[in-house]
Amino acid sequence: MLLCQDITLALCYSRFMTCRLCLSKAEPFGARDGGYAECGVCGYIQKTTDRLPREEDEKQRYLAHHNDPNDPSYRSWMLGFVQTAVLPWLKPGMRVLDFGCGPSTLMEKLVTQSGMIGSSYDPFFLPETPWSKSQWDAIIMHEVAEHLANPLQTLSMVASCLKPGGILAIRTAFAPQERSNFLSWWYRLDTTHVGFFRARSLQQWATSQSLVQVFNNGVDSITFQDRKTEM
Ligand SMILES: [Zn+2]
Repeated sequence: MLLCQDITLALCYSRFMTCRLCLSKAEPFGARDGGYAECGVCGYIQKTTDRLPREEDEKQRYLAHHNDPNDPSYRSWMLGFVQTAVLPWLKPGMRVLDFGCGPSTLMEKLVTQSGMIGSSYDPFFLPETPWSKSQWDAIIMHEVAEHLANPLQTLSMVASCLKPGGILAIRTAFAPQERSNFLSWWYRLDTTHVGFFRARSLQQWATSQSLVQVFNNGVDSITFQDRKTEM
């Protein structure tokens, strides 16, 4: 769900808009609810830094989410992602981290039931997990990337914890291409969503990390595989 350990970057931005994903120039524009900026290079759209939520507000918002792990339709929405964007590149017994799990460990349970060894981390709800001290066969970021105040730093740290050949599976609704469609898009109205990706935003970032795309549903899910040379 979230991510907030990287809020410090907010201080680096004021009126100058720099893309928080690729550090290129981002063009400011306004909406009824406040300011945004769209990157001219990677297409990432970010809320202005004055609109990043306070940590406590963010946590309350997650607690208010109605994501009931016992709700069959929610489970099947999660399971669909696991089956299409994660499992095809894994073998039984591999170690899978759900990064930013939020208040529920449903994703960990689903991957464990699928024969993997699941773990969960969340900066608010499971902050003790020493995830960055391990190397993972797969890391899942399910509805997390849109919460990142510093996507470049956090995504790159996550990628550095993949084993050679490991996969990073990301689910975040891809932003509409047209500005008018973006402005009427429900996804941007969640106050804890601070950045919005196109598939190409993530593809561009991934190429800088020795990651190659192995799956993209064109809507909200994309998977990359690490191609670092095996030691
Ligand atoms: Zn960018």
